[in-house]
Amino acid sequence: MLRHILVFALSAVLILTIILPGFTDANSRLDELTRRIEELKKQEAAQRAKMREVENQIAQIENQQAQIREDLMAIDLKMNETQEKINELNKEIDKTTKEAEQTAKELEQAEMRVAERDQLLKTRVRAMYEAGDVSYLEVLLGSRSFGDFLQRLRVIKLIVDQDRKILEDNKRDRDLIAQKKQEIEAYLDELQTMFAEAEALKVQYEKQKKERLVVMAELQEKEGELEETLHQYDQMVMKLAEEQEKLIQEKNSIMFDMEFDGVFAWPVPASHRITSEFGYRKDPFTGKTSGHNGMDIGAPTGTTIVAAADGYVVVAGYVRGFGNTVIINHGNNVRTLYGHIRNGGIMVKVGQKVKKGQKIAEVGSTGRSTGPHLHFGVYENGQAVNPRKYLQ
Ligand SMILES: [Zn+2]
Repeated sequence: MLRHILVFALSAVLILTIILPGFTDANSRLDELTRRIEELKKQEAAQRAKMREVENQIAQIENQQAQIREDLMAIDLKMNETQEKINELNKEIDKTTKEAEQTAKELEQAEMRVAERDQLLKTRVRAMYEAGDVSYLEVLLGSRSFGDFLQRLRVIKLIVDQDRKILEDNKRDRDLIAQKKQEIEAYLDELQTMFAEAEALKVQYEKQKKERLVVMAELQEKEGELEETLHQYDQMVMKLAEEQEKLIQEKNSIMFDMEFDGVFAWPVPASHRITSEFGYRKDPFTGKTSGHNGMDIGAPTGTTIVAAADGYVVVAGYVRGFGNTVIINHGNNVRTLYGHIRNGGIMVKVGQKVKKGQKIAEVGSTGRSTGPHLHFGVYENGQAVNPRKYLQ
């Protein structure tokens, strides 16, 4: 009575076969592509986030470098100032040293003058009081009268007084020079202290400069490393973008001109004889009630089966239960299944684009079938739906 066997329990098998990885058809490839593109997008976003982080690090390092360059300029300025000061101090020390030498000489001469004058005075005073000295005694004794003697004595006294006065002057002069010498020497000491301080400062600045340069070199090395990392990340991002582009192109080529308008062509133009509608009914083999996940259209073997809508072939081969089967993806997650195709009756290949109404196969009775008919299944997101939904 039944010209074909309806596929009840096999609905689950079909859904499984569509999902199973062994079934590498264009359909699962599309899913795979969509999933992979999403994954790549995530990877790219993560990579870009890492890049931003590295860029921030580089910016920080550049700030630090700018700060160090400023420091170095300030240090150089101070070093120059210090060097100038050192040069001036050097000149001043040279000048003052010469002055000190000159003053030492002057002091020596002054001391000599004092000593000479002292000596002279002593001689004259001795001559004045000691009878042993002939020349002065003679001067005195040679006086013609007491008045003359007094007169002469007064003259000698005047000379001695004058000598004493010159000696005093010489001593004062010497003391002044000695004081001057002391002052110059104190000044020289001061200059030398300042010089030592400036030199110490210079050493300190040099040390600071060296420290900054070491830090700078470290920062430059770190920056170089980060730049390299950034470059690597950049290349990775480019690679990810390229990969995405390739997959998107593949996806587009699979999806190309699929515009499912929601209206199916009748899959067997030559026959409108429905032998089993979609829904629940008795299994002719087991007698059990189960769902029929498609619509059966009875037709003689060899009758033309056409694509219900534009799409691409995702399965074109034997499927357990359905026998020789074609599955077409129409986009919008809608697929159609054509089962029990006669041996040699599949006219399309996986990945092939088909147009609505295009012949894709011929009616047969392969698989779990009791007679020639087309099992026409419609799936939305992998779930079987009543084909009537899209058939006018
Ligand atoms: Zn069926």
